[in-house]
Amino acid sequence: MPSLRETRESNNAELFRTETRKLMIPAADVACVNGHNSLEHALLILTQSGYTAIPVLDRSGAVKGVINSTLIIKAILGLSGYEVEKLSEKKVEEVMSVDVPKVKESQLFLRPFELSITWPFLCVEDDAGKFVGILTRRTILAQLYQYFRRHRDE
Ligand code: AMP
Repeated sequence: MPSLRETRESNNAELFRTETRKLMIPAADVACVNGHNSLEHALLILTQSGYTAIPVLDRSGAVKGVINSTLIIKAILGLSGYEVEKLSEKKVEEVMSVDVPKVKESQLFLRPFELSITWPFLCVEDDAGKFVGILTRRTILAQLYQYFRRHRDE
C-alpha cells in the first residue's frame, strides 16, 4: 500500500503531468471560421454559438488568429456610421487579431495554466501545427479546484 506521502506525490504528478490533449475541447466541438470567410459569416457563427471569441484557421487547418464581434463592429465603422455592406466585402483575415496563444497537445499542465492567467482560451495544435482543439480557462480552473479539494486537509 502506498504511503500518504507517495499518494500525495502521485496526486501532484497526476495534474502537473497531464498533457493538454487530455483536457482540451476537440476541434470537432469548437466553433471556428476560416480566414477567407466574410465578416458576415463570422458574425453569424459568433452570434449562433454565443462565444465571445473564436479561432480563425487557414485552408491547411492551422490557427492564424482569433476573431470577436468587437473587431468586426470596429471594422465596419466608417466616418458617417456603420457601413453594413463591408460585412460581405471584408474577410476575417483582414480584421482578426493575430495575437493568439497556442500550445502543443503534448504540453504539460503548468504552461497552459500560466497562459490562462492572460487568455480565456488557448488554441491547441499537433506537432505538424494543425489545430486540434482549445483549452479553456474554465477547464483549467475546474482541474485546479479538484486538485485543491483533494489536498485541502494535508
Ligand atoms: P469558457 O471558459 O468555457 O467560458 O470559455 C472561454 C472562451 O473560450 C469562450 O468565451 C470562447 O471564446 C471560447 N470557447 C469555449 N468553448 C468554445 C467552443 N466550443 N467553440 C469556440 N470557442 C469556445
